[in-house]
Amino acid sequence: MSHIEAKNLINGKWQSSSSTFQSTNPADSRDIIGTAPLATAEDVNTAVMAAKNAYHSWKDLSWVNRAEIIDRFCELMKRDLDDLSQLITRECGKPFNEGRADAVEALHMAQYVTGLGRLPIGQVISSEVPAKDAYILRKPKGVIACITPWNFPVAIPLWVVLPSVLAGNTVILKPSEETPICGHRLAELFHEAGFPPGVINVIQGNGETTGDTLVKHPDVAAILFTGSRTVGKYIQQVAAKENHKFVVTEMGGKNACIILEDANMDIAVNAALLSGYKTSGQRCVTSGRIIVDKKIEKEFTKRLTEQVKKIKVGNGMSDGVFMGPLINKEGVEKWKKHRDMAIKEGAEVLVDGKELTDGEYAHGNFVEPFLYRFEYRPDTFCLREEAFSPHVAIIPVDGMEEAVKVYNDTEYGLSMAVITEDYRKWRWVRDHADYGLGYVNLPSIGAEVHLPFGGVKSSGNGHPGAESILEFVTHRIAFTVNHSEEIIMAQGLSTKL
Ligand code: NAD
Repeated sequence: MSHIEAKNLINGKWQSSSSTFQSTNPADSRDIIGTAPLATAEDVNTAVMAAKNAYHSWKDLSWVNRAEIIDRFCELMKRDLDDLSQLITRECGKPFNEGRADAVEALHMAQYVTGLGRLPIGQVISSEVPAKDAYILRKPKGVIACITPWNFPVAIPLWVVLPSVLAGNTVILKPSEETPICGHRLAELFHEAGFPPGVINVIQGNGETTGDTLVKHPDVAAILFTGSRTVGKYIQQVAAKENHKFVVTEMGGKNACIILEDANMDIAVNAALLSGYKTSGQRCVTSGRIIVDKKIEKEFTKRLTEQVKKIKVGNGMSDGVFMGPLINKEGVEKWKKHRDMAIKEGAEVLVDGKELTDGEYAHGNFVEPFLYRFEYRPDTFCLREEAFSPHVAIIPVDGMEEAVKVYNDTEYGLSMAVITEDYRKWRWVRDHADYGLGYVNLPSIGAEVHLPFGGVKSSGNGHPGAESILEFVTHRIAFTVNHSEEIIMAQGLSTKL
């Protein structure tokens, strides 16, 4: 297998750092995918300066000019889709069809942003004074730091980088230290597409040093962060100390599928399976809670349990694998902690997942799915905290209103799916549950790039990504032009002395 030596991309040039770190395959730690530089404070500063210098000429291009470079990038993505898909599976472990979905989603985002370049970017507004024209325009914010997680190592960087540069900002991307080689492949494609030097800089490294230095840099105007709640809240506090710095934080979830008494049982079981266990539960929109009406609980539980027992765990490149490895040993420890806590808090275990350490699993971070029944009570760790692993509770409830009360009882509010055939019921749930992404008769996963993506409460800070990110990476400015030969003021103001 090839070994890739990643570099930082700063001002259009490939640069090393004084130290490096390794990226290994979570399915087999003997497979070393490559090495990446650990960008120092000096490297971060050089990248920010490059972005700052590039900003003035980049923002002076038209939106269409900038979109044309993104269009070239789309062509390269199409050319390399298979390679990218394989690399995603090799570096972050998810099964090949999910690696491919990640790359396809990234391509869709690039295509969508290309199209945005030719759409209206402002409005003409009537004035109180007929001789005046008023406009609402969008202006870029400047240098934007993009900090991204490992679980969508190609799609998420593009959700944030491409709208930012389309709008005329320049960018420093710091990909996750778990997936630096995916980040490096993106850097190669940015370079090949012909973005001018300094417009997109990619620096590698961990959060505590490289990421922290980047978000605190005084010349960074805005931060687009996607990752855990702990880090996101910390970054919000960092930004709050500097009154010019804007921050978007897209964070975790403790999502749920709500299965009402009239649900189509096939849809309910499949939605729960996909929501709970796809990507081995390592999606921000994973449902760790399946809230089921007591009237159908027995049949639902029997059918879901049968399905979960059939889940094949293994290397994502092997046929028929539904769950790949967890990303690292810390992920396995977190899964164990959540499982042990659930049992301690009174879980009735239905499928008792174990860590897998023998034979084909010996060199990876493999665990089995964990499924349990839990009578709802407030203030439990297992029902409230994100496990980010295959850890799913079935929670029996009495009817729709109790289901939504239980659903809302977390700090989070990212994704919610309701399974029902009754249009009055899904409408009520739609209007009373707290979430940023809602689904009916679907899993809680499966977003599309032209819809806003983000959560409420502790899942996000109100600037959903993907489609809506343009709102954040630009200032909306008012601009008024007088076409008269005298000054006529609004609100009857007079120029008379
Ligand atoms: P993480 O928070 O550990 O890391 C995310 C990024 O932040 C990484 O690039 C990391 O290096 C960086 N980072 C860490 N500490 C930092 C610091 N002090 N300063 C600056 N940067 C720092 O998250 P992860 O493990 O990569 O991803 C999993 C988490 O992300 C889960 O909680 C998941 O729910 C969430 N997530 C959210 C979304 C969403 O859109 N809401 C999407 C995907 C993942």
